[in-house]
Amino acid sequence: MLLRMSTLFLRTLREDPADAEVPSHRLLLRAGYVRRAAPGGYTWLPLGKLVLDRVTELIRAEITAIGGQEIQFPALLPREPYQTSGRWTEYGDDIFTLADRRGAEFLLAPTHEEMATLLVRDTFSSYRDFPVVLFQVQSKFRDEARPRAGLLRGREFLMKDAYSFDLDQAGLRATYDRFRGAYRRIFDRLGLDYEVVSAMSGAMGGSGSEEFLAATPVGEDTFVGCTVCHYAANTEAVTTPAPPAGEVAGHPAPRVYDTPDTPTIEALVELANARQLGDRTGWTAADTLKNVVLSVRRPGADEPDLVVIGIPGDRQVDLKRVEAALHPATVELFDGFADQPDLVRGYIGPQVLGKLGIRYLVDPRVVAGTAWLTGANEPGRHAVDVVAGRDFHPDGTIEAAEVRAGDPCPACRSGALTIRRGIEVGHIFQLGRRFTDAFAVDVSGPDGRPVRPIMGCYGIGVSRVVAAVAEQHHDGRGLVWPATVAPCDVHLVVAGKGPQVDAALALGGRLADRGLRVLVDDRTTVSAGVKFTDAELIGIPRAVVVGRRLTDGYVELRDRRSGERTEIPVDELVDRLL
Ligand code: ATP
Ligand code: MG
Ligand code: MG
Ligand code: MG
Repeated sequence: MLLRMSTLFLRTLREDPADAEVPSHRLLLRAGYVRRAAPGGYTWLPLGKLVLDRVTELIRAEITAIGGQEIQFPALLPREPYQTSGRWTEYGDDIFTLADRRGAEFLLAPTHEEMATLLVRDTFSSYRDFPVVLFQVQSKFRDEARPRAGLLRGREFLMKDAYSFDLDQAGLRATYDRFRGAYRRIFDRLGLDYEVVSAMSGAMGGSGSEEFLAATPVGEDTFVGCTVCHYAANTEAVTTPAPPAGEVAGHPAPRVYDTPDTPTIEALVELANARQLGDRTGWTAADTLKNVVLSVRRPGADEPDLVVIGIPGDRQVDLKRVEAALHPATVELFDGFADQPDLVRGYIGPQVLGKLGIRYLVDPRVVAGTAWLTGANEPGRHAVDVVAGRDFHPDGTIEAAEVRAGDPCPACRSGALTIRRGIEVGHIFQLGRRFTDAFAVDVSGPDGRPVRPIMGCYGIGVSRVVAAVAEQHHDGRGLVWPATVAPCDVHLVVAGKGPQVDAALALGGRLADRGLRVLVDDRTTVSAGVKFTDAELIGIPRAVVVGRRLTDGYVELRDRRSGERTEIPVDELVDRLL
């Protein structure tokens, strides 16, 4: 492959684009890899498309190697399967929905578990057909509350997603482990510095779901590691056992309440006010949203009587989870402080609350830490002004405080936790039978009795990976691609005009014949200085300067990463590059 800068569809930018906050976004725009086309949507220009395709190909090869079979689904899907699985509402504001001319409802797929499950149900019928692993590399659509940082959080983005179907838990575990291995090879080959962290709570950091986080300060996820053992977890998944009631330094000891067996809303309100939500009285307080939503329900009751939402001030909240938790209860939130709405904006937007028909309140005393929203299911009757913050220890079973660096490791207890930020580039998940149950997928077993397959799902944000690699591989002058994903293997910079251009093109042709991807800067309209600046910005691992010394049979080889320059005989170039 030989590309010529003189005709390449590319314009590099000298200045940083105003709306690009993070280095990867800035550099990918400036070096002409992508262009913003819509809010959260990007056009891949020729150099960018080459990188995206190389990343895709690398991932495809590893997934195929562990037995994955590639398929392609439509992105435009009918509502029905998502209704059946419950995700039409669970995804809430995050899905793009639309209607056809007859009014039938559709969505743009945010992910395809439903379709994969239906496909397998309609194709396979015997235990002999399993296990099976299907995968796809396709655009997904999510109406992210905050599209951000270019490719890192798009509203249309490329994902490799895979779905596995096994007959039993042991099979799923084996498939999951194969994916875990493939993911490690993928992210190693991509040159990423990453951590595999538990994405599920559990003292030992449960292995039912793990995320691959590329470490970088611009990441939106926060994860902990242990100074002693191998424990690593997304902070969303860290369960630090709550200290016994009354023993938290600096925290008021909770008061113990005697509640009647069937408490009234008033009693609930009182409990909430006293931070006494809990199971002391036979009630269950479920940490349904990992310390974000606390719901209280009477024994045997289907719906919670009270939902308390706490939003730690330094963390983003997954709105769809909040919405999912709110739906079952008709929550009427207190609106006594309507003049303080700014305190919640950015955590739970008034938009979402409005859509849910929720009036809300923020306790004005909560300033920097946490805003708590509360409600009761008798519209307009009661609301709780629950005060909380870092000191919220509801009942001794739920720890609401944030994890902090230096906290004891919940796994080994002897190490201390360290905290870093990362970008979620991959996520593997033992799904279980959620979808095969929803779609009643049964196949005949060895003894003729039906068997219900068990699923796993495994995603990689392909477009996000491009940005994550750029985030970890750049310097003050531009991108520094790892050789495995660079758009080209070598960048020939012609420092001169006339004969040097022809010589460089001839040399480029010879390199391309040997299988190298070559970019030749054969422009005669710009200075050598501009070409060098562009070469560093574009970030191809090796540059070859074809200049005056060519007449003596020499070119200069430059290493983009180290900056090292070596003069070598042009005859040796091919061998040096291969
Ligand atoms: P996040 O926590 O960043 O919102 P997610 O947990 O919602 O991601 P998954 O549903 O696990 O994402 O999707 C699989 C992978 O798709 C993620 O690991 C991530 O790499 C990628 N991904 C998810 N959302 C986006 C997005 N908006 N833009 C780009 N890539 C994304
Ligand atoms: Mg998400
Ligand atoms: Mg996530
Ligand atoms: Mg995820």
